[in-house]
Amino acid sequence: MSDSISNTSDQLDDLVVEPCLEIHEFEESAPRASFNGLVKDAPTANTSVVNGLSQQLIYQINLIVPNALVSFDDLDVELGDAAYPFVPPAAKQALQEAIQRRGVTLKVNSAYRTLAQQMLLFNWRASNSNPVAAPGTSNHQSGLALDIEDRAGWLPFLQGSGWQPLPNDKPHIDYRGAGAKDLRKETIQAFQQLWNKNHPSEYIKDDGLWGPKTESCLNRSPAMGFDIAPWDDKPRILRLSKPLMEGSDVRKLQEKLKAKGLAISVADGVFGSGTDKAVKEFQQNKGLVADGIVGSKTSEQIA
Ligand SMILES: [Zn+2]
Repeated sequence: MSDSISNTSDQLDDLVVEPCLEIHEFEESAPRASFNGLVKDAPTANTSVVNGLSQQLIYQINLIVPNALVSFDDLDVELGDAAYPFVPPAAKQALQEAIQRRGVTLKVNSAYRTLAQQMLLFNWRASNSNPVAAPGTSNHQSGLALDIEDRAGWLPFLQGSGWQPLPNDKPHIDYRGAGAKDLRKETIQAFQQLWNKNHPSEYIKDDGLWGPKTESCLNRSPAMGFDIAPWDDKPRILRLSKPLMEGSDVRKLQEKLKAKGLAISVADGVFGSGTDKAVKEFQQNKGLVADGIVGSKTSEQIA
């Protein structure tokens, strides 16, 4: 039986376009771990309660399409609480140039939305005044969409770079330039693959199509992420980022730092400012570049 019930068109314009929010809340969010339970039981709150799972999903997409999504959190940007600042490399380059030319901070309220985040919004749709697209079909799942503040002010700086405004949706821009690839299918497929890796006895078709089976599995997935993470084979680079990195790899790092006498209060699996400080201190002690980035060199020393 096919698990497909959804529109599978490749055209952004054909799909459900949710009205994007113009109200922006930029809070200094306290380090916060994901909800310790299943997606379906997640408390109605901010979609960052599925941060652990969301990070695994983004990583898995890059295993399907190498370098499809890169973080732009290192640019001069201010990010909304639950926004995953991921776009294709060429789209990031265009943003970087626009920010340099204009010389002000780009405020981004919404960017890539993971399948787990959209699942929550979909589950909570009764309490939402706006329509919510089925997971995998929202334009914010293409990996090409941003909601920005002061779009009119930014457009002259983005002109010709591939970033285009969406008419009738005031904060929204889409990247349609070189290297633009709509990742909605991969957004679903990444989940299906991760699920299968963790549930070989309850295999679902990894066809990238949304349907009741995929929905049921996603709702029964741990908000903190699966036990078998996509980076288990090839460790991810750990660093202070927004949203905060979270997972068992972070917890292991914290435990090692703690064992080496560095100040880690709780090994909670969330790479916050305390972990960043401890890593830098460790790097300094070892004569490494104290950048807080745990790549292969620092990992070797910590092991
Ligand atoms: Zn939008």
